[in-house]
Amino acid sequence: MPLTASKTCPCGSGKRPMDCCNPFILHGGNPQTAEQLMRSRYSAHVLLAVDYLWHTWSPSVRGHSSPEAIREWASSCEWLGLEILACERGGLGDDEGTVTFCAHYRLAGREQQHLEKSLFRREDGVWRYLDHAP
Ligand SMILES: [Zn+2]
Repeated sequence: MPLTASKTCPCGSGKRPMDCCNPFILHGGNPQTAEQLMRSRYSAHVLLAVDYLWHTWSPSVRGHSSPEAIREWASSCEWLGLEILACERGGLGDDEGTVTFCAHYRLAGREQQHLEKSLFRREDGVWRYLDHAP
């Protein structure tokens, strides 16, 4: 499906993609908050925007995976929706924050969910996904 065809953003914000995640994924904008980065990374899984996923992953942990592995994972799932359950810090004045989310997807015909509290850190002024929060 072309990006412009979906009326609302895949992240479930209810906004149009152009007013939500697309400026970050497609046009090089930088999310201002950890939640914006979390939402845009979910949307990037839906859109198979592997470069964006790679770029927004902290360089310190990229060694755990590869763009090819990310693509394989993202494309093997049918992404059904994202719920943001909680956000701690991660705002305009913060350098670190966590977002607790549940991503729903179908894999090999089975509906599954991925519940995670993610840690985000602002590195050189840019929010990046670091890891699961401790
Ligand atoms: Zn969005």
